[in-house]
Amino acid sequence: MNIYDKLGVKQFINASATLTMYGGSIMPDEVVRAMKEAAGSYVDILELHKKAGDYIAKLTRNEGAFISNGAAAGLVLAAAAAVAGDDPARREMLPLSDGKNEIVISKAGRIRYDFALKMGGAKYALYGDDDKSTEAQLEAAITPNTAAIFMFYFEHRMGNQPSFEAQARIAKERGVYLFVDAAAQLPAKENLWKFTQGGADLAIFSGGKGLRGPQSSGLIVGKRELIDRIATIASPNGGIGRPFKVGKEEIVGLMTAVRLYVEADEVATVADYERQVEYFIGAFGGSGGGVGSGGVGSGSFGGVEVTRSFPSEAGQPMPRAQVRLLPGAFKADAAGVAAQLKECKPAVLVAVQGDSLMINPQTLFKGEIEIVADKIKEVLIANAT
Ligand SMILES: *Cc1c(COP(=O)(O)O)cnc(C)c1O
Repeated sequence: MNIYDKLGVKQFINASATLTMYGGSIMPDEVVRAMKEAAGSYVDILELHKKAGDYIAKLTRNEGAFISNGAAAGLVLAAAAAVAGDDPARREMLPLSDGKNEIVISKAGRIRYDFALKMGGAKYALYGDDDKSTEAQLEAAITPNTAAIFMFYFEHRMGNQPSFEAQARIAKERGVYLFVDAAAQLPAKENLWKFTQGGADLAIFSGGKGLRGPQSSGLIVGKRELIDRIATIASPNGGIGRPFKVGKEEIVGLMTAVRLYVEADEVATVADYERQVEYFIGAFGGSGGGVGSGGVGSGSFGGVEVTRSFPSEAGQPMPRAQVRLLPGAFKADAAGVAAQLKECKPAVLVAVQGDSLMINPQTLFKGEIEIVADKIKEVLIANAT
């Protein structure tokens, strides 16, 4: 019996994604060991923050880095740093603010996490329409009260907001900061430096998603000046940053996770995801599609069409398997099948996209894709019309 069994808390095989709601990601043993080691001594947290940040900055080719307790907390700290500047009086006012306190965001690029910017004292300056915004609208939204531009980056699906390159160019021309929320944009590994080298002042990542660090950690990388300011705003200092405490264990854990992430062979990892997707398609009688073919497995298993889907739901460059339920073939719809999978033994999490179940290899351990395929078949057979 493990601790969850003793508590009566259900555990899942996760074929969905690095979802905060279901535990984010699983830390490699080496990260857990580093956290255990960190747990054994008293240290000066300011010194640990600084040295761990510098270590990560070097690994990720950035001027500076700061470990926060999640990407959302990173957004609060970034906003606070932009709004307060180097003025101690403005910092003391937070989360209230006046004057230069606006953060410019495309309405077409809104995400629910941007609420965190308001907690850091920022006011939204939204531009464009809900479904489309242009460079000209971004230009017009920048005023003397603009503290920063904020954008949510979504590889492959930037939708209708100006491109990252355009926002970086405009931020530079107008002399305002650009912050990029790239919380779930790993892989690709190069995103750890791509945004900041491309003109963003800060890029913010979740530590508990693709990085496989502690679930309650996050990473801010970017300009030295801003990172240093964030370090003086954040816990253990008093003020607006104090509720966002990062423990010594998380600092050391994330630092270790970033090292492992940077050192890992990402090409091999993605090739393994492809193999799992291929296996899955094959398990439903499809051809498997083959790596990179976008292949359609027509499937001998009745009532479904199983194919390779690319990119992932967060736009990461990696495949998933898509199980489309054909009309009339099953008593339950895709959401209903996913709900039944959560009640299986073992319980299985899959994402739902319209009429399809989406199977993501990123969060599966060796041997689990086979179980996921079996359980899905079992539930589908039980629901056959
Ligand atoms: C998950 C996520 C966040 C929040 O990250 P936490 O580390 O859970 O705080 C912010 N922005 C986006 C786009 C995310 O996907």
